[in-house]
Amino acid sequence: MKFCVITLLPPVLDALKYGITGKALEQQLITLSCINPREYANNKHQRIDDAPYGGGPGMLMQAPPLHGATLAAKKKHPRAKVICLSPQGRRFDQDSAKKIAENETEMILVAGRYEGIDQRYIDKHVDEEWSIGDYTISGGELAAAVVIDTISRLIPGVVGDQLSVTEDTFYQGLLKHPQYTRPEIFEGETVPTVLLSGNHEKIKQWNLKNNLGTTWLKRPDLLEKTTLSKQEQELLNAFIAEYKKEEIS
Ligand code: SAM
Repeated sequence: MKFCVITLLPPVLDALKYGITGKALEQQLITLSCINPREYANNKHQRIDDAPYGGGPGMLMQAPPLHGATLAAKKKHPRAKVICLSPQGRRFDQDSAKKIAENETEMILVAGRYEGIDQRYIDKHVDEEWSIGDYTISGGELAAAVVIDTISRLIPGVVGDQLSVTEDTFYQGLLKHPQYTRPEIFEGETVPTVLLSGNHEKIKQWNLKNNLGTTWLKRPDLLEKTTLSKQEQELLNAFIAEYKKEEIS
């Protein structure tokens, strides 16, 4: 997957040079390039922003430098969709990431700054607007990094053990069960005995029951979107019964 980010602040994307995405970059499972619209500003001071027509606070990114940067990006990535990061966009989620990882090989991501971007640029070049959540951050770079990291994890070979990805929260529409590691006793608290039993079938059942239970406790809205099998419904019922019993005692 080739990611190209149009940004005024390329160093913000350096976060991707570390950890899992850093390794993926080294192994060229993904590539990342940045194009700075300032290089396409047609004035002495490389200014790329101006005040909004009609008044209002702050400055807007002007269309012409972004237009130049996008033409350069499209030349390098002719098949890429142009995605603009925006709090007004469609919510980016695990399913959007899966679709991209399965169907696309290159992407151009546009990171806004200031009060946003001249609408004429968006109308001309942007295929989709994506939001990372219902809040406003100061620039699109961190949002682009979130999108790139999420998609990269789904590219075969990027995460060493593919199970870490398919068992991740959200991959199957559920939250992940609680997890424990050494020491076996911490401040008097023990680990659920089944996890120490070595019985793989029982551990699988416990994990699934607790995926369902954790989702019921923390994100019941996700369960409403999921059709549970008979066995899953029984496991969830058992979790709820145990939870309620513990609450009473
Ligand atoms: N004035 C704009 C508005 O009210 O819609 C917000 C501009 S914001 C301060 C600057 C840039 O940050 C946006 O152009 C966008 O690229 C990025 N941004 C802010 N919040 C975002 C979010 N939730 N998801 C994706 N990008 C976001």
